[in-house]
Amino acid sequence: MGKYCIGIDVGGTTVKLGIFEQTGTLLRKWEIPTRTEHNGCNILTDVAISIRRTLEEMGIHFNEVGGAGMGVPGPVARNGFVPRCVNLGWGACYPARDLSLMLDGLPVLCANDANIAALGEMWQGGGKGYDDIVMITLGTGVGGGVVVDQKIIAGRHGLAGEIGHTHARDDETEYCNCGSRGCLEQVASATGIVREAKRFLDSSGDESVLRDIEESRLTAKDVIDAAKAGDGLAMEVVECVGYYLGRALAQLALTIDPEIFVIGGGVSRAGQFLIDIIQKYYEEYETLSEDRPLIGLARLGNDAGIYGAARMVLD
Ligand SMILES: [Zn+2]
Repeated sequence: MGKYCIGIDVGGTTVKLGIFEQTGTLLRKWEIPTRTEHNGCNILTDVAISIRRTLEEMGIHFNEVGGAGMGVPGPVARNGFVPRCVNLGWGACYPARDLSLMLDGLPVLCANDANIAALGEMWQGGGKGYDDIVMITLGTGVGGGVVVDQKIIAGRHGLAGEIGHTHARDDETEYCNCGSRGCLEQVASATGIVREAKRFLDSSGDESVLRDIEESRLTAKDVIDAAKAGDGLAMEVVECVGYYLGRALAQLALTIDPEIFVIGGGVSRAGQFLIDIIQKYYEEYETLSEDRPLIGLARLGNDAGIYGAARMVLD
């Protein structure tokens, strides 16, 4: 086992990379564009070239590197098989094996990007010091990752941690991206919060500072900021979001019972204000024990993926 490890987080527009000491110190991070054209056939080659160049610049030899971990935006089977990855243009493939061949046989592991983000937060972020964490990322969608005994739980079908598509609401009329209706993501993502706010604005006659913002420009941040400033209608929206999140967390607590829930993604910038609202409903629905999992905030932001990818190598 070498002294260093490499984290790679392949996204639809950029690939984030990081060189870490195995103690968890990030030595260098950088990004390269994700070339998704031609079924994404250049992505791994670009990654391999970029890693070779960077290691050379840093004066690090391959035999000092224990391995590389890679997160991809889609399901990954336990053996590293990716059935397809729509955002990258990939069909069925074994990206870790392919990248390893391009890097002189360096050990490479691959996992789903939301799952590695959870592992990253466990290693050096909001879940540091805990072995069992559930991370929920509130971004454009709602992602999730489950880590038990410091290991990602990917599940037998790659479904574990897909918290955003657990059912939240029976009376939802619109369809979610996944094809279902009433998913948590439809109400608790940044997109969902905006949609929820528009529904409240349409159905209520109440005054609200949100009415001063052009509908097409309204953001989740506007809604949360207005709620923080005491706007009644915005507060109703945030209460609604907090209700569904709190209830989802209670169900997860009663299924997985982690030490801590870590809330990340753009919406989590709402901070303790949002956590307090989630906590209120969470306690309402988890009444078996007062000794329940903590709810905290993620700390690594967009770097969670590279941290978690690098951490995968250490097992
Ligand atoms: Zn869904």
